[in-house]
Amino acid sequence: MLLKKIKGNTFYIDMGKTNIPFYKIDNKRIIMLDSGFNKIDREKIQNVLDSNDLQPVGIICSHAHADHAGNNMYLKKKYDCIIAMSECEAFICNSESNLKFYYNNQYNTYTTYDIRDHLEYMVCETDIIIGEEQHCVELCGIKFGIIHTAGHSPGHICIVTPDNVAYLGDALISHEVIKNAKMPYTYNLSEDLKSKASLYNLKCEKYIVAHKGIYQDITKLIEDNINLYRNIAARLYNIIEGTMTMEHIIKNAIESFNICVNNTLKYIMVDKVLRLYIEYFCEIRMVKMEIKDGFLKYSKVP
Ligand SMILES: [Zn+2]
Repeated sequence: MLLKKIKGNTFYIDMGKTNIPFYKIDNKRIIMLDSGFNKIDREKIQNVLDSNDLQPVGIICSHAHADHAGNNMYLKKKYDCIIAMSECEAFICNSESNLKFYYNNQYNTYTTYDIRDHLEYMVCETDIIIGEEQHCVELCGIKFGIIHTAGHSPGHICIVTPDNVAYLGDALISHEVIKNAKMPYTYNLSEDLKSKASLYNLKCEKYIVAHKGIYQDITKLIEDNINLYRNIAARLYNIIEGTMTMEHIIKNAIESFNICVNNTLKYIMVDKVLRLYIEYFCEIRMVKMEIKDGFLKYSKVP
């Protein structure tokens, strides 16, 4: 059974590796919270919608990552549904150029061709832009709570349905994912840690974590997420000895974290994630940069 009820009118589609929640307005019309991973999830989502006679009339998107916003345009075109996103994430999805700018900044490899091939259905005009000061949004007469949780992505949001069920997107990962996490992605670690801690104040009846679980209490999960990121940061910090180039740090981190890097794309992804952690050390003045012997080098601030 792919479709599961959480509480009241709040349901989710069990996609295997992720949960996609939705809110049922009536027997047919639903508001989806995220739209899944482009081609990978599309058929499965379409089957669930068809077999349960459901029609998405709106999508509130937690953030503009391919596994969360990957079918926005597909569903908008097919069902003429409206899309709500935070200001920053809406901007990212606004055009091919903006997506290329954002993803290039992340992975250095995305050409316009790659954007068309992999992220085509993320390019989409957002109908309702959720401002940073806004703590709720109304779609089709239904009011959803919004918690701004920047960090995992620049404008990440969590969404609370009228049943007081919170969808946490990627603001937290489940205990199962924590167990196997080596170097989880974060766009801005200091913001991310603040956002995770802010979730201690959230009092809902149930919590849906995209990757992947349903929780009744997230106190321990928040603590374990914060500890995971802090521990990884501490381990990375310990890798820095003397003055090192980024390539040297990456090489040592791949060995130390036992990460399987068997192709250039994987290397580039590890490179980017690691740079974001190093950026965090520079931001909190624990690491400094200098040019030495013609190389950009990093060292701990004494
Ligand atoms: Zn994400």
